Amino acid sequence: MRLGARLQTQARRLWRWLFPERIELPEEVARLARALYPTLDLGAVRFHRGVPHLIRWTGGEAITIPALFARRCTCVYVDPEHYDPGSVEGVGTLLHEAYHALQAQEAGWGLGPFRPFLALYFACGAANGFRYKGHPLEEDAYVLAGRRHSRFESAFARVGRPDPGAAILAELAAASSGVRSWPALARSLPLALPRWLAPPLLPLWLLLWAGAAALVWLARLLVEGIGAALTGVLWSLGFVLSSLEGLFHRGAGHG
Ligand SMILES: [Zn+2]
Repeated sequence: MRLGARLQTQARRLWRWLFPERIELPEEVARLARALYPTLDLGAVRFHRGVPHLIRWTGGEAITIPALFARRCTCVYVDPEHYDPGSVEGVGTLLHEAYHALQAQEAGWGLGPFRPFLALYFACGAANGFRYKGHPLEEDAYVLAGRRHSRFESAFARVGRPDPGAAILAELAAASSGVRSWPALARSLPLALPRWLAPPLLPLWLLLWAGAAALVWLARLLVEGIGAALTGVLWSLGFVLSSLEGLFHRGAGHG
């Protein structure tokens, strides 16, 4: 391949690395999600195949985060290796993430880089010693889906393929994720504080983790902004080179 075309291919790869491809949820999986989470606004959840840049280091199968600009949207990113909407396990992963989307919806939308779900996730994570295992928002989600013995997986393990019309879905359904931001935040306060100290400390604790979440949000914006600009330069350079190479070739053909 010529240099110009190679640069353009690299530019496309960089773009995909920054912004994983958006996908439509298969209709059967969407029906399962609607049956399990009747109050979730599934239209505001965007699914992507691929995990974006900064999140790769967390090493998970999938992640749900509030959308960068669309205030009422959450984005679910699934590692392509674990995207398998045809198996109980694969659907379980998607439904686990959809539960996080419900948590984000119920935590409140926030504004700009201040997203209650992220602040709450960080605060609860800090209280859990920054471990994934035992994180209260994760444990709540895993009760329903995402693990071998979660309710969804247990219900459909023998069938092999979950049926969106199955009667058991009504029993499994979660009308609410149960996230109440303030009580959850209060529970995440460190140390065994005397009760009277909790109310004045709570806003500071919230400010700390809202600040941390905002920093991560801004870092993401920065990486994506710089990355998009670089992609543009790389692609344009490839385009110019391709045109020149084409001209040169035609010229050489005539000579
Ligand atoms: Zn999770």
